[in-house]
Amino acid sequence: MPEAAGPLAQRPSAATSTAVTVWLNAAFGPVVLAVAYYFGSQLGFVLRFPPATTSILWPPNAILTAALLLSPPRRWWRFLLAVLPAHLAVQVQVGLPLSLIVALYSTNCFEAVVGAGLAHRLSDAPGRFDTLRRAALLILAVVLLAPILSGFVDAAAVAVLHGEPYWHVWQTRLFSNTLTALALVPVLVSLIRSPSVLRKGVPPRRAVEALLLVLSLIAAGGLIFAPPFLERGPFPAWWEQSELVLLLPLLLWAAARFGAAGSSFALLTTAALAFLAATSSSGSATVSQAAHAVRGLQAFLLVSGIPLFGLGALMEERRSTEQALGERLEFEALLSRISAAFVHLPSNAMDAAFEAQLRQAGNYSGLAGVLLFRVSTDAQRLELVAHWSASGDTRGGPPPGWSPPELLEHAARHEDWRIEDDGGWTLGIPLQAGNTLLGTLVFVGRSAEVRGHEEPATRLHLIAEVFASALARKQSEDALRAGEEMKSSILASLSGQVAVLDRSGRIIAANQTWPAAARVPGPDAPGAGGATLSYAEACRRAAGSGLPDTPEAGAGVQAVLAGTRPSFTLEYPCRTEAGERWFMLSVVPLRRPEGGAVAAHVDVPERRRAEDEARRSREELAHFLRVSTVGELTTSLAHELNQPLTAILANAQAARMLLDEGADPREMREILDDIVEEDKRAGEVIRRLRELLRKGEPEHAPLDLNLLATDMVRLVGSDATIRNVSIRVELAPQPSMVSGDRIQIQQVVLNLLLNAMDAMADYPPERRTVLVSTVIIAPDVHLSVRDTGTGLRQGRPERVFEPFYTTKPAGMGMGLSIARSIVEAHGGRIWAGDNVGPGATFTFSLPLGPSGSTSPGS
Ligand code: ADP
Repeated sequence: MPEAAGPLAQRPSAATSTAVTVWLNAAFGPVVLAVAYYFGSQLGFVLRFPPATTSILWPPNAILTAALLLSPPRRWWRFLLAVLPAHLAVQVQVGLPLSLIVALYSTNCFEAVVGAGLAHRLSDAPGRFDTLRRAALLILAVVLLAPILSGFVDAAAVAVLHGEPYWHVWQTRLFSNTLTALALVPVLVSLIRSPSVLRKGVPPRRAVEALLLVLSLIAAGGLIFAPPFLERGPFPAWWEQSELVLLLPLLLWAAARFGAAGSSFALLTTAALAFLAATSSSGSATVSQAAHAVRGLQAFLLVSGIPLFGLGALMEERRSTEQALGERLEFEALLSRISAAFVHLPSNAMDAAFEAQLRQAGNYSGLAGVLLFRVSTDAQRLELVAHWSASGDTRGGPPPGWSPPELLEHAARHEDWRIEDDGGWTLGIPLQAGNTLLGTLVFVGRSAEVRGHEEPATRLHLIAEVFASALARKQSEDALRAGEEMKSSILASLSGQVAVLDRSGRIIAANQTWPAAARVPGPDAPGAGGATLSYAEACRRAAGSGLPDTPEAGAGVQAVLAGTRPSFTLEYPCRTEAGERWFMLSVVPLRRPEGGAVAAHVDVPERRRAEDEARRSREELAHFLRVSTVGELTTSLAHELNQPLTAILANAQAARMLLDEGADPREMREILDDIVEEDKRAGEVIRRLRELLRKGEPEHAPLDLNLLATDMVRLVGSDATIRNVSIRVELAPQPSMVSGDRIQIQQVVLNLLLNAMDAMADYPPERRTVLVSTVIIAPDVHLSVRDTGTGLRQGRPERVFEPFYTTKPAGMGMGLSIARSIVEAHGGRIWAGDNVGPGATFTFSLPLGPSGSTSPGS
């Protein structure tokens, strides 16, 4: 690669950043220099006052210095050698002795090497004077130190070899060489670099201004230096001291508007005009007068030229700072335009925007093409997202779909990928979010020029960062949307009714099967107001559609929302149009910072229906058994009813007699009180019977097993009397509260009592005793029926609870089986065992229930 640096160079060096030094450093560069040196020397000889050797303006040294300034020191030897023949050719013509010629060659080279060497050493860009610092260093090295130092050697050589006075030579040479360096070196350097300036184009206004300046300089020079320069010019006598001041505005103009090089050029023009006028002067003035005047002019030009050169550099520096700032601002405006274009776009509209923004970036930077790649999901490939090419087709850059493997390899290592050839360059910058590789932005350029050229690669990196953040946003939004879509399709696919609740229990999403009545009415529905619906309200509105409208469900949901329960399930029946159906509510919390829960209602028809039917047939059977048990009691009940009825009859008859005899009302009241009492007794018997025979849904209520046991012992009281059985009751001192269905528990106790009496039928009456007892063994209440009958008579006591197991001729073997299912449905247990003595004991236990109220009527 040539030394020209494209935008791919990280930081192009200022010394080598211009292509114009190419020709200088090419093979023919030294030849051109030698020719220039030759003619420069010729001119120098013209501009002197013979017989003095020293010129008033000596261009060759400045020409050599300019070449050395623009070349790397390792190439200097070519230039130093190249100018030797030119030097010899000129000096021999003049007829100087060879020793002096060689000495002068050496001092000339010495001056150029010292000046350019110091400049190379001290300045970051020895060939440029566009900042005050660079200009000052150039003045110091090239304009002051080099001529001063080389002057000592030169004067010595001339004094020794040519016999001229040392200090005179030193002085003349100093004035001449400093002025030449100041006026010519910047102009020459600018000239060598002019192809690149011209290529960028000079605005017509500037060209006109430059022309005007030159014309003005020539006009002013003409007025001041024209033939009568050394005599009185066209000016009055009082103006004599101020002629040169006329030049000042023009020199200022040049510095202010055309920079340091401009001011040098103005100096050169002025000096050239003046010295030409002086040397060609054929007036009355003597040579020494002319030399005197020229020295004054030299001093004037040097003293005013040095600060003006600095001023020019300062102005140039300000202009380029302003321009850089302007460009920077423009670039930043571009960046913010590109970022802004992505900010409000939904991720699915971003692909189109990518292309438009690639165009903006590409057009601004003067690129041939820009391609945006994204890393594929398997991270194995780069996929083209969008591309733009300046020519509108693929000629400007690689074809779409192009993605060399090295591009991904470099990107994976978080490195830029660069290729350069004669046709242009390609730069792939990895796009990252943190450490994650998102894709690559590839810039394609045709030439080394990129707008905002100071640090083009940095700028392209900034552009890449904007695209990286847009791509990152798109990817995260896409992922979010995919997640949302997945969630809503999962929700939609659920056959149950599912609702998502927020922390306060309001429905924020529901699936298709969620009942319409439990949805938030549309915004145009009256009173809707865009409000959300609470879960409780939804259950209330959609009663009969499967949602649980019970306080229990509401409390469960609240508990999960409040975090006091990890989850909640509830099975519940619901009367729908198609009849009763069972559902299961399950509530699970939403694991997210905002909280909330998911409530799902699933139809549980099959299992529930089967369970329901089993329960119903159990109840039917239990009822049937109760009816048949009561049937067994008919005789004893008739007997029991007989007593109060007989007493009522006797009392009624007694009352009638007393009425006939003119009864004493007090006696009558007593008789009537007796009748009421007896009637109540009969009523109690009938109530117990009706209760037992009632058929209906089981109802859970608090029950005192003590009262319930007493009640049942009373019911079988007459039967026991008939059977000669004595029944004892030993109850727990405190109420033995359980929760359950009174009729069902009564049935269990009744069954145990009748079985106990049956078991003792074959024994003598004095052995027939039954003990009914309750005892509280926390957390349960135990109720036992102990008899002195046959005992269980077989090895497996639990067999008696099996259906259809009976030892009685007319038995069904269902009583204990039903009793067990009733007790277990109440969360209890029933068991039997032989006594230590004769007989068996049947016990059931139920969990202790609420200790408050007792069952009414027990
Ligand atoms: P059933 O009374 O119709 O036979 P049960 O299920 O009530 O049906 O009783 C089943 C069997 O258990 C009885 O036939 C009897 O053999 C036995 N059994 C029940 N209670 C007792 C008891 N207290 N003592 C001895 N055996 C009993």
